[in-house]
Amino acid sequence: MPKTDRLYYADCYLREFQARVLRSEPAANGFKVYIDRTAFYPASGGQPTDFGAIAGIQLVEAVDEGDEIAHLLRQAPEAEDVTGKIDWARRFDHMQQHTGQHILSAVFERIGSYKTVSFHLGEDSSSIDLDSDRLGARQLEEAEDAANQVVFENRTVRISFQPAGEASRLDLRKPTAREGEVRLVEVEGFDLSACGGTHVSGTGAVGLILLRKVERMKGSTRVEFLCGGRALRQARRDFRVLSEAARLFSAALDTVPELIAKQSQELREGIRGREKLVERLAEYQAKELWQVAPVIDGRHVVRQVFPAEELAQAKMLAHALAKLPLTVALLAVKGKPTALFFAQTSGGPLEMGSVLKQTVMKFGGKGGGGRDFAQGGGIEESRLAEALAYAEALMAQSPPP
Ligand SMILES: [Zn+2]
Repeated sequence: MPKTDRLYYADCYLREFQARVLRSEPAANGFKVYIDRTAFYPASGGQPTDFGAIAGIQLVEAVDEGDEIAHLLRQAPEAEDVTGKIDWARRFDHMQQHTGQHILSAVFERIGSYKTVSFHLGEDSSSIDLDSDRLGARQLEEAEDAANQVVFENRTVRISFQPAGEASRLDLRKPTAREGEVRLVEVEGFDLSACGGTHVSGTGAVGLILLRKVERMKGSTRVEFLCGGRALRQARRDFRVLSEAARLFSAALDTVPELIAKQSQELREGIRGREKLVERLAEYQAKELWQVAPVIDGRHVVRQVFPAEELAQAKMLAHALAKLPLTVALLAVKGKPTALFFAQTSGGPLEMGSVLKQTVMKFGGKGGGGRDFAQGGGIEESRLAEALAYAEALMAQSPPP
């Protein structure tokens, strides 16, 4: 098999090229097309595949098969001579991220001998894994500053080729195991790496380098970063989010975190205060209901259906009623699902769990509980009143106190 001539090796800025189709093979969802030369970068070394088109047919993926590069297309081109067109926005974005990664990796080596053990160029953000979990916030900021300084200096990024023997004698950031000819990417006066990826021609084109999330794992640290267009779009999104938060607080951007902390505190206090009030309200309501409740076999029986929004109150009311003497509470709450709270004064003669169980068995629902308190639900809303009447009738079978 002849080797595919990798045009992107020498010229990363080549967006369109002519090639000859050597052969096409059927593959899953289309064809593997082999051409004599290509500017399409195949997924490898952490950098994803290029997109674009060959003879107007969309490229699904370029695959590195060693000597050859397979181009996955939905259909095989009919002509033998074809034009390849790179999706340049995607490619240039990859070039910004990849050169940015070389700069970052070199910077981390300089500030703390942290070695990059892997690189991932993702759809939204990219990351490098460093071989240490001891990086502090200060070092990360220092690295970000140093990386952007290299960008500001707009150093030339030069690509060259050397026989492996020669390359191994050079001061590479990471030794290479490649044989034959080695492709070298040099950030002038700053970094020299063996790499097959696509790069911008000067560090200025990388644009801003932003460090994002930092994840410390055992023995390593994953640093997420954004370069160039991605950094711009993210900064814009961040500003939009922050502005929206500030608008909601009618405050200046800088004061947003402080205001959120203050409001959370107020909210927590408010919730606690409301809970106390609802509890006291339940006690008053319980007394009122108790006074007007019919007395059956010497027990005050409070039987009532509540609207859905009073679910929490109804439960508290059941507990409050059970604190009053000689009381039985049979409370139901509408909603989806409906709820039941059965309670009696502690030491009463009934088995509230058993009364509730029998009720839900008859009316379709579930639940249970102990002697003095039981809860359940799931009975149809329209049958709640009937279910409570049934529960009260069950009580009559128990002996009076
Ligand atoms: Zn690289």
